[in-house]
Amino acid sequence: MKVLVIGSGAREHALCHSLSLDPDVTALHCAPGNAGIAGVAELHQVDALDGAAVTALAQRLGADLVVVGPEAPLVAGVADAVREAGVPVFGPSKEAARLEGSKAFAKDVMAAAGVPTARSYVCTTPDEADAALKAFGAPYVVKDDGLAAGKGVVVTDDLEAARAHAAACERVVVEEYLDGPEVSLFAVTDGETVVPLQPAQDFKRALDGDEGPNTGGMGAYSPLPWADPKLVDEVMETVLQPTVDEMRRRGTPFSGLLYAGLAITSRGVRVIEFNARFGDPETQVVLARLKTPLAGLLMAAATGNLAHLEPIRWSDDAAVTVVVASHNYPGTPRTGDPITGLDEVAAQDAPHAYVLHAGTRLEGDTVVSAGGRVLSVTATGTDLTEARDRAYRAVARIGLDGSQHRTDIARKAAQDAQNA
Ligand code: AMP
Repeated sequence: MKVLVIGSGAREHALCHSLSLDPDVTALHCAPGNAGIAGVAELHQVDALDGAAVTALAQRLGADLVVVGPEAPLVAGVADAVREAGVPVFGPSKEAARLEGSKAFAKDVMAAAGVPTARSYVCTTPDEADAALKAFGAPYVVKDDGLAAGKGVVVTDDLEAARAHAAACERVVVEEYLDGPEVSLFAVTDGETVVPLQPAQDFKRALDGDEGPNTGGMGAYSPLPWADPKLVDEVMETVLQPTVDEMRRRGTPFSGLLYAGLAITSRGVRVIEFNARFGDPETQVVLARLKTPLAGLLMAAATGNLAHLEPIRWSDDAAVTVVVASHNYPGTPRTGDPITGLDEVAAQDAPHAYVLHAGTRLEGDTVVSAGGRVLSVTATGTDLTEARDRAYRAVARIGLDGSQHRTDIARKAAQDAQNA
């Protein structure tokens, strides 16, 4: 199988890493990729948002499967362009990707499908937003309706800050605050059959102790020793299957990766948001535990054959990923700094710990930072404590001037599991 992956983050490096281990994959390509992905796939400098260019590349390469990583190409209709050309593609249509692209649309689908979520109002004027904020009370939750890479959401006790965010957006969703821990659950679907993956938890705030601004994600772990073993079955029944069924009923079937961001509240599981693609950094830990060959799974989804797939197999290992970010992230990051220690990790920590690249590029022979999130250092172990120790040992070998990372990824879950 010849596979072309679209994107350039650590999620795409994780996808390429797993695909490169699949014996059915005979050629692996990525556009545009990054310095780390270049180690496992052939890179092509094609604009990921240009459906015609991606299709032409897939045809030129004779790709059997195209996997679209990020949300922006999906919302731009890249999967539609590839599909129209007759090439199997893992990723939803532009219409179906609205589950992520518009929070108001997602709320509408959830209401129709009876999926539990926060009560909400869609507001287009400051007065409407004001009324909704007062109706729910603090803490206030205000979400930009459009795509904002996880950064369009404000959760605050400060009414003025909530009003200001609403005023800065054209259309906002104001919703009730959901208490309780968050869980990310991915499901692979062909539009009809839904195959859930394993739950993970990510860390959205920039600083230890969940302080500081929201980011794209600073780390993740899986499995969740504290979660109810019935969680996946419950979410399948109340969230994933009804959502996929509702999308098909509307004539816009969702095929690809349906990501449910969930809150485990005192009143039960609620959907915080949907995404239409693999989450970053949760993908890094979920794929680290997946034993079923990835290409076959994604191909079955792309071609409507998931009903015939063997049950998914998982490793009993735990996985932890720690994101190393640039100076000033999530503000405008400093880039162009050389990264050291990558060879040491490969020599001393592999295969249990490895570095997935996000914002990196090659300057001559030197790998330099090229974005906010730079590396996802990922490790597996027999439990979360061992996986964390290995991940942080590898992080300690990496040098990047001014870089930052959280030191408490999976700490509480690992401690609780040991005390249980
Ligand atoms: P979203 O982009 O919708 O995932 O929101 C980003 C983050 O904001 C979530 O991961 C939560 O931490 C937080 N958040 C969003 N909606 C709510 C809510 N209704 N109640 C509490 N926290 C929320």
